[in-house]
Amino acid sequence: MKIGILSRNPELYSTNRLAEAARERDHEVKVIDPLRCYMNITSHRPTISLKGELLEGYDAVIPRIGASITFYGTAVVRQFEMMGVYSVNESVAITRSRDKLRSLQLLARKGIGLPVTGFAHSTVYTQDLINIVRGAPLVIKLLEGTQGIGVVLAETQNAAESVIEAFRGLKTNILVQEFIKEANSSDIRCFVVGSKVIAAMKRVGKEGDFRSNVHRGGTVHKVKITPEERSTAVRAAKIMGLNVAGVDILRSNHGPVVMEVNSSPGLRGIETATGINVARTIVEFIEKNARQGKTNTKGRG
Ligand code: ADP
Ligand code: MG
Repeated sequence: MKIGILSRNPELYSTNRLAEAARERDHEVKVIDPLRCYMNITSHRPTISLKGELLEGYDAVIPRIGASITFYGTAVVRQFEMMGVYSVNESVAITRSRDKLRSLQLLARKGIGLPVTGFAHSTVYTQDLINIVRGAPLVIKLLEGTQGIGVVLAETQNAAESVIEAFRGLKTNILVQEFIKEANSSDIRCFVVGSKVIAAMKRVGKEGDFRSNVHRGGTVHKVKITPEERSTAVRAAKIMGLNVAGVDILRSNHGPVVMEVNSSPGLRGIETATGINVARTIVEFIEKNARQGKTNTKGRG
């Protein structure tokens, strides 16, 4: 098959591993920087070009679209879909997963366990918003944050009020969430491919930090997940419409709760922690599922 990996940087571990795994299975692979693609939007024969040449003959693409280029990156994925090229994650699913409020609402609608979460645009009822999540300690998150940067633990009511007001003053969108203390500064990353959790790891925050992000100094460990965690992760990915997803779960007293569903989950941590060849599993999934024109949406939505 001819497979395109949509990624800004061929040197990244995940990009590299996917390319390597595809080549090992005798596929032709090209890493395509989505920001360098330009497109012809026409109903007759949509095309994509890169450096003066048409990108043609692809059987499948693997989108690895970073949060900072979601807008243009998903447009490129959508164009491939319009051309009938199979995308392992479809553009609508990527867009959906990038909007934290929309994702949480979709998951809640289908009965997935979530931390109790509140959000509001105005600051007038800050107190009431805090009450919705049952008071301090609570977690406040910037909607656009990644790698744990915009995530704050407010231990007291006063701290919660001042942090919420400070964020509001900056005119940024936030959500307020029940603090799952019993997770003990750790979370579970379930790596879903198709309808299976193919690998799982536990991330543990560094001493004194409640955030388990590896970028914040967290460490990764192999973990055995429960059947309930497994089915929660698979259902969450399915609700988002993602074939490849990193589902982050907190172990709470009231069962597994989903924190977020990532549409371009990294491979380094999970392959290191588990020794599982995640890249090859993704390529094998594509071999089984990629068909010309098989995308569900064909660029709709
Ligand atoms: P980001 O998108 O920046 O990674 P997350 O929502 O994943 O933000 O939060 C970062 C980390 O903070 C999580 O991996 C988890 O360890 C911790 N965390 C987030 N929300 C909660 C919560 N409600 N209760 C306990 N810990 C949390
Ligand atoms: Mg996270």
